[in-house]
Order: sequence, then structure tokens, then C-alpha cells
Amino acid sequence: MAVRIARLLVLPLILALLILGAFIAAGHIVLPPRWDPFAPFDLAEPPGLLTRFKFARARDDGDLCRAALSAGGIVFDPVPDRVTGEGCGFTDAVRTPTAGAIRLASPVIVTCRVALSLAMLDRHDLRAAARQHLGTEVTRIDHLGTYACRNINHAASGRRSRHATADAIDISGFQFADGRRLTLTADWSSADPARAAFLRAVRAGACRWFDVTLSPDYNPLHYDHFHLDVGGGRACR
Ligand SMILES: [Zn+2]
Repeated sequence: MAVRIARLLVLPLILALLILGAFIAAGHIVLPPRWDPFAPFDLAEPPGLLTRFKFARARDDGDLCRAALSAGGIVFDPVPDRVTGEGCGFTDAVRTPTAGAIRLASPVIVTCRVALSLAMLDRHDLRAAARQHLGTEVTRIDHLGTYACRNINHAASGRRSRHATADAIDISGFQFADGRRLTLTADWSSADPARAAFLRAVRAGACRWFDVTLSPDYNPLHYDHFHLDVGGGRACR
């Protein structure tokens, strides 16, 4: 009996949802931006149920991505699309001096989707991790580069690295408002538990916003940096 009633309710429920969806799509019902999957992406919004969908949508469209960076106050210049070699070059890239609101040791060229992922990492993980584990603010991010026309692990042959399309950044350390400086080389296995905990919290955060996050735990080639990339496979190591 209960199953019969449940079955009878399914069709009206689907119809109601379809009608509701049609009204939203037609603009007759206006949702608050936080609950509207098609509202412009706001990187400051606390992550919620729709964040995955909205983030992916902004990340995968150059115009939406640049609009999200601008609205979020991220400083950048668009870079013209470029082909630099076989499997090398970039589309929808930006030149930026920051990762989110944090200054990079030197400006970089990255795809907009990497810049947006960095902004989310800064906004929703990095700041909190610095406060929680070190009681200070991150003031500078040190890196080993972004765009480079090369294969994975600098191998002579094999697949192109995500770096070849400016879809990756290698982060080597962090500087803080209290003068402290952390490097992956010295502090991944630091005797100071707060330093090691901070770096692991950054890795966990990066795994939320990047498709691939590789740390010193992954292999000896990554002893001195986090490799973060988008657009390829998925890994959180
Ligand atoms: Zn890398």
C-alpha cells in the first residue's frame, strides 16, 4: 500500500519540479544568488550545495571565468590565445601578480581556470589554515613556475605536462605577516607540528579546487613543491 502511494506521488512531484524549473528559467521566480545555479559566480560566497556546479560552470567558460575573477577583485590582464609548439600554448589565459588576494613571488601566466582555482584556495582554505595552524596571515606565495612547453616530469618523450598549456602551477613555499617563511623542502616533515599541519591543510584545500594536487608524499620529484593543475585527470596525493 505504502509503495503504491509513493508511486502515485512520483509523477506529480516531477511535474511540480519541472514547472518550478520553467518558472525559474523564464525569470518569473527570482532566487537569491546563492540558490540560483545560473547566477554569476561569486568566489566570496561560502561553499554550499551548488558551489561545485557553479564553480565548474565558471571554470569551463572563458568569459564567465574572467567575469568571476573581476567580480572577486582579482587583478589580472587577459593574454591573447597562443600556440607555441606541438601540444603547447594556451587559451583563455591571464597574467596575474596574485593567487586570489595573495601576492605571488613573481607574476605568472596561467589559464583563467587556474587563476579561479587559486582564488578559491586562497579564499576558502589558505587563510583559515594560516590562522588555525600558525596564527598569522599568508603574505606571499613562492612558486617554481606555471607555463612551460614540456612533457610530464621533464621527460624527453611521453605526454605533455599540464604546464604546457598553462593549466598548472608549482608552489614551493609561503611567507607570513609575522615574518615566518615555510618551504615544502624544509617543512613538509618539520619537527614543528604546526608547520607540517599547515602544509597538509593547504594540500587538502587544493584538492577541493584543482583536478590534480601532488605533494611531496606523491614521489621524490615533488619533494620541493605542490603541483596543482586543472583540465586533465584527477588525483589528490
Ligand atoms: Zn608541476
